[in-house]
Amino acid sequence: ERMIDIAGVHKTFVADHGTVTALEPVSITIKEGEFISIVGPSGCGKSTLLRLISGLDQASGGSIKLDVSGRKRPVGFVFQEPVLLPWKTIIDNVRFPLDTSGVSRAQGDKTALDLIKMVGLAGFEKALPRQLSGGMRQRAAIARALSDDPPILLMDEPFSAVDLLTRDNLNDELLRIWQSTGKTILLVTHSVEEAAYLADRVMVMTARPGKLKCIHNVELPRP
Ligand code: ADP
Ligand code: ADP
Repeated sequence: ERMIDIAGVHKTFVADHGTVTALEPVSITIKEGEFISIVGPSGCGKSTLLRLISGLDQASGGSIKLDVSGRKRPVGFVFQEPVLLPWKTIIDNVRFPLDTSGVSRAQGDKTALDLIKMVGLAGFEKALPRQLSGGMRQRAAIARALSDDPPILLMDEPFSAVDLLTRDNLNDELLRIWQSTGKTILLVTHSVEEAAYLADRVMVMTARPGKLKCIHNVELPRP
């Protein structure tokens, strides 16, 4: 029931002024259904780690194993800013990943509608993204990330662009979604409070001169 197995994964970028170490070697194991938060100072490699797990970037070394055999798309990704197609309605945005996966239009609409309800956007399915608030757009982006049912959801500071009250609401929404779907979730955040509120396990990435990174695991009892 290991969902994600990361062993000695590191990442170096070649830039104009030389090489940049974006991620020192990390090893972590994540079980199916766990909710993990990752905190750490800016630039320590949190986004890089998520991008490597998602396949958006390729690791410079080490191995990443996802136990997701037979899944067309193992990972859903939610970015800091909600990325939606501006000319498409909310339902068309949410259904979009299904349009290319051989699902019928009727089935796609049903799946999308269920997700739109789950994230609290019922009634807005025909709206365009610009007609919604930032928090609502991010809810739609979460629904879209879930639409082709990936077992893993990766979120890179998903709520940092919304106001604090909205953020609290979205946190509770996310917990409900996690409880009802059983997804394995990795969430990067700048907020220690948010990390501890949401997760079973908080990973703290530290940056020290000369020895950039270690991961401390903080296990939390769920109230
Ligand atoms: P965090 O998410 O913890 O703020 P990042 O993973 O975004 O950190 O970045 C880690 C380090 O790698 C930073 O120093 C950043 O500038 C560098 N970095 C990230 N992406 C690239 C890239 N595409 N090219 C060069 N350097 C990068
Ligand atoms: P974060 O909000 O996680 O700290 P950043 O603002 O550091 O992220 O980076 C935003 C984007 O820019 C990321 O996709 C990252 O890969 C890229 N990036 C970061 N630093 C550099 C860099 N030095 N050169 C090129 N791309 C970078």
